[in-house]
Amino acid sequence: MSNSFTHSLGIRHLVCGSCNGCEHEMNALTNPFYDITRDGWDVVASPRHADVISVTGPMSAAMREAAQRTLAAAPAPCLVLAVGDCAAGEGPWAGAPDAGRGAGIELGAAVVVRGCPPTPDAIRQGLREASLLIGRAAPRADPADEPLPEELPAR
Ligand code: SF4
Repeated sequence: MSNSFTHSLGIRHLVCGSCNGCEHEMNALTNPFYDITRDGWDVVASPRHADVISVTGPMSAAMREAAQRTLAAAPAPCLVLAVGDCAAGEGPWAGAPDAGRGAGIELGAAVVVRGCPPTPDAIRQGLREASLLIGRAAPRADPADEPLPEELPAR
């Protein structure tokens, strides 16, 4: 029982002014190829269940307080994962009116994944770093290294 949850990772995602490009790449993490649920990772609906708060976007003024309250509601240890250049304080909206310093920068991200948008592989690597930082067991190797399943027989 004690080892049953060593790989688990609850991820609560926050959109803080993103263009949704980063979200499209994050969505790929739950497709049959990346399938992060096989690592014991899952997207959770509440910060109360989160080990990682992933954030995208430059931090819009409208989201700032909600993001801070979400982070405050998460139990320790909970890390912030900045996904994308905007969250890292750069990207196309840096310096725009109502754009903050980057959602990840403002919330003290422990891991930053760069790219506009970053690839699912890069985001997965960031999650892997976050899981190790909070003392979870290393998840499986890169899914691209795994052999593809046999073709299904023709009917
Ligand atoms: S990093 Fe690029 S893809 Fe991601 S939210 Fe910013 S502009 Fe959109």
